[in-house]
Amino acid sequence: MQVLKFGGTSVGSSQNINNVISILETYSEKDKVACVVSAVGGITDKLLLAGEQAKNKDRVFEATFNDIKAIHLEIIEELNPSNKQPLLDFLDETLNALKQLLEGIYLINELSPKTSDKLVSFGEKLSSFIIAETMKNRRLSAARKNTQDLIITNANYTKAEVDYPTTYANIRDYFKSARARITILPGFIAKSAQGEETTLGRGGSDFTAAILAAAMEVEQLEIWTDVSGMFTTNPKLVKQAYPIETISYQEAMELSHFGAKVLYPPTVQPVLDLNIPIHIKNTNRPEDTGTIISNQESQNGNPVKGISNIGNIALLTLQGSGMVGIPGFSKRLFETLAQEKINVILITQASSEHSICLGIDATDAESAKTAVDQIFENEIALHKIDPIVVETGLSIIALVGDNMKNHQGISGKMFSTLGKNNINIRAIAQGASEKNISAVIADKDVKKALNTLHEQFFEAKTKQLNVFITGVGNVGERLVEQIRQQRAYLKENLKINLRIIGLSNSRTMYFNEDGIDLKDWKEKLAGGEKASLDGFFQNILKLNLRNSIFMDITANADVARRYPDYLRESIGVVACNKIACSGNMENYRLLKRLSLKYNAPFLFETNVGAGLPVIDTLNNLVASGDKITSIQAVLSGSLNFVFNHFNDQTRFYDVVKQAQEEGYTEPDPRIDLSGVDVARKILILARESGVSMELEDIENTSFLSESGLKSDSVADFFETLIEDEGHYQQIYAAASAKQCQLKYVAQFNNGQASVGLQEIPQGHPFYNLEGKDNIVMFYTQRYPEQPMIIKGAGAGADVTASGLFADIIRIGNI
Ligand code: ADP
Ligand code: ASP
Ligand code: MG
Repeated sequence: MQVLKFGGTSVGSSQNINNVISILETYSEKDKVACVVSAVGGITDKLLLAGEQAKNKDRVFEATFNDIKAIHLEIIEELNPSNKQPLLDFLDETLNALKQLLEGIYLINELSPKTSDKLVSFGEKLSSFIIAETMKNRRLSAARKNTQDLIITNANYTKAEVDYPTTYANIRDYFKSARARITILPGFIAKSAQGEETTLGRGGSDFTAAILAAAMEVEQLEIWTDVSGMFTTNPKLVKQAYPIETISYQEAMELSHFGAKVLYPPTVQPVLDLNIPIHIKNTNRPEDTGTIISNQESQNGNPVKGISNIGNIALLTLQGSGMVGIPGFSKRLFETLAQEKINVILITQASSEHSICLGIDATDAESAKTAVDQIFENEIALHKIDPIVVETGLSIIALVGDNMKNHQGISGKMFSTLGKNNINIRAIAQGASEKNISAVIADKDVKKALNTLHEQFFEAKTKQLNVFITGVGNVGERLVEQIRQQRAYLKENLKINLRIIGLSNSRTMYFNEDGIDLKDWKEKLAGGEKASLDGFFQNILKLNLRNSIFMDITANADVARRYPDYLRESIGVVACNKIACSGNMENYRLLKRLSLKYNAPFLFETNVGAGLPVIDTLNNLVASGDKITSIQAVLSGSLNFVFNHFNDQTRFYDVVKQAQEEGYTEPDPRIDLSGVDVARKILILARESGVSMELEDIENTSFLSESGLKSDSVADFFETLIEDEGHYQQIYAAASAKQCQLKYVAQFNNGQASVGLQEIPQGHPFYNLEGKDNIVMFYTQRYPEQPMIIKGAGAGADVTASGLFADIIRIGNI
């Protein structure tokens, strides 16, 4: 005998039922088959919905009823184009009984557990009849047997307990004389000794099949479903999840108990004692290996076998000083919950005994609170304990593995991984057997938690980074292009899976949770929703993806003001925008603090020297214990351009105009020529060296003429350049007389910073600086005479984009 079970989706359409029939045909060639079927996918839920509607005196139950009818009619007609009359008659008869039951519920305005079981039993009765009759129509040796005649339970409606001796005897008896090669049996439903209809609990068809398998002591039990086995975690929530080939009974039980819906937890019990393996298979892909659940404990390999999640959890906390050292509190608490038939899923107790925390199904939360508050009424009145606190909107996630007990540090890794992603843990439980470590977290964090834990324990090698870019002008565009070109390389060589999830310019923004296709991102962005800073932030929060990075490639103060919001959500910030780091010191400190507190990287390498590794080098010097004594630097590509082109053969006005037109200066060249931009850069370097400094503290000796300084518009300013040509020629002549070059230099010495034009003599490292190159010299305790020098192109879209890219990779390597 072979025992197979097909779940709701496997019998959810005529096409799928045809798959099932062909699998059964093949199997029946080998040996007889007992096949347990669930209700057609979704029907149990619809029956319960109709019952609720009828109970609430809502005639809409008729629409739900019609829906149920239509689904079955369609399946019958598609499966049996001819000879469908007996099936239609049966459907009619059965649905009449269902309609009457619903009318009855409507009339009395009540839906007891007993009636509920009667109601849901229609689902399996219909599906098993349709499948068996269809097979008979196709001349297969098939019969249907109602399990309600075989499986006998107590009267604990909606989740009845099985009377094994009677049930096993009935099953053996029946199959002794059963003649058909294939027997179709409805799962989930049973009867009490008194003949009342009962059920084995939601998902209980698996259990029915296990009871049959155990009664007949078959070689293995096969559970056919819509996925290729038990997965490392819920495949609907984690795309990278994969089927586990072999797993022990204990591990399977833990995983299913904590939410791996693919197997109904009690299923394991009947087959466990007899050592009958359970094979989970995919009806849509019968060729896939699936999962074998057996008594083989896993010895080698990954100590974590799977990660599961269970939603709709409420946390009850009982606390108060009156509990300490007094025996009996927990006993009373658990007795009360047991009396209310409330199942406790998770328990933690602080070692001070000051509080007990319980995880239960949220549907039971209210009755639990009422019952517990009542039983401790006296203690609450005497303020020995507080009224019980109930929190909802929670889920449990659990790591499961027989072998976790032999490995240190798994829970540490679990909690730090969650912490890094800003997932708050409300309660933790770890059984002494160490087969399971569970944590209670908010529902909204479940997807992120499963993905990040799965990455940590099952994909250890790749890290997914989720990037959100604001500002896709020149630099932003280059960055997107560089990412597009390097994605495959990063995955292959650095094990970084870099995805751009959100893009925004000042007009529109666009998101794709699965990663934006970078081939046509411009069209997608143009067709996106209206951009807003808050909308961008809210979308990132809603997506709640692990390792999220916000990138500011604007020069906008409003964007910079949002950094604290991102950091507080543990979202990394990479800024090209200088405003935040060169704004007031208090804000700079706040950002640094938030970055540490929320474990969110805050990087801004491109603030100084574009793509040159200036800040990174400085950080490494400081971190390794070196002390910065002095920084000498040329940090402005625009001023370099101007003074490399200005001489006694050119006009200052023409050079500045050309620099402006060729994009070497800001549209308002005063920002560059006044030295403010350079001052901001040396300020950032001074701060990164550990000095507290404001922009006003920097000495700025301007080379501009007095009227140039006073000009109040760009046009005015250009006028002054023409008028004051003499002033600028004088500066040139003075330098030239000493064979010096003019360079705009930023300096930081002993805690003081200054910027200004300097005459640089031949032989000085700055003397030959060309084009838009920048140079930075660090004098430190370890480099006292010969400075550490960083030199290279300090402006341009490509190098700036590569500096931003380097910041992303730094985060990937953390
Ligand atoms: P059936 O109707 O065949 O009994 P279920 O819906 O009860 O199927 O169970 C299969 C579903 O369980 C899958 O479609 C999947 O979404 C869900 N599931 C949750 N966790 C896991 C897991 N760890 N492995 C496989 N499936 C899981
Ligand atoms: N049909 C029942 C349910 O949906 C039993 C099962 O499918 O296992 O819960
Ligand atoms: Mg199921």
